[in-house]
Amino acid sequence: MNRFIECVGVGKIYPGKDEPVEALRGIDFTCDAGDFVCLLGRSGCGKSTLLQMMAGLETPTFGQIAVAGKALHGPSPDAAIVFQDHGLFPWMTVQKNVEFNMKALGTPAAERKRIAAHFIAMTSLTGFEGRYPHELSGGMRQRVGIARALTTDPKALLMDEPFGALDAQTRGNLQDELLQIWEKRRTTVLFVTHSIDEALLLADRILVFSPRPGRIAADIKVDLPRPRTPQSDAFSALARELRGLVGAERDFD
Ligand code: ADP
Ligand code: MG
Repeated sequence: MNRFIECVGVGKIYPGKDEPVEALRGIDFTCDAGDFVCLLGRSGCGKSTLLQMMAGLETPTFGQIAVAGKALHGPSPDAAIVFQDHGLFPWMTVQKNVEFNMKALGTPAAERKRIAAHFIAMTSLTGFEGRYPHELSGGMRQRVGIARALTTDPKALLMDEPFGALDAQTRGNLQDELLQIWEKRRTTVLFVTHSIDEALLLADRILVFSPRPGRIAADIKVDLPRPRTPQSDAFSALARELRGLVGAERDFD
């Protein structure tokens, strides 16, 4: 089996201000290369914590995480993260932001330029290379974050509610673009969301998290045909099941 990401007995306790916070407990899960997995749950379930640990930005208090067969010790070039608030450097142009991860890995300037141009075109940002983040719309900023993450050809994209702050139409467009990238490159995607509809539109598999401490409450396979339509009966039936598992709370759609 091609176990691409493996979490064994992963737990996380933050020191906290007054008392320790147990963010996650007993997380066991593996995913294969090329899977599209959504981590679904209400806020505070530990989804971001798990993603940051898989990105090597936080260390687990208990257990182990391996990416591409290697135990994690800090950020791995195999997995690139896309943050909810895009995580761009405000003082850098689009071009500089997109080149940043390659520069950190020591990619030569000419190659950086060639690769950046490719992903800037792929994310429809050609012509905006000289702009600064504050001169772009929210959707464009997210696309810069995605372009930057793709430049180092990561085997996995770790996405933390990347479209959560966008209007419905922009979110729909970026969901389509992400699915196209995934279908073409077969990148493994771990995608955090609190939207049931978003999880059902995107994922092959949905891990439902429950809170205090965060745990995986259910592991649901989604074998709806693509492209998916929320109007279908099978989609609605799964959405109903997931609503029961997540607990009643407004979806943002
Ligand atoms: P989610 O992404 O599902 O909303 P988080 O992973 O952000 O959940 O948070 C899980 C729990 O851990 C929450 O109770 C949150 O307050 C707590 N937490 C997250 N980050 C920190 C931190 N750096 N220090 C202390 N507590 C934290
Ligand atoms: Mg979060």
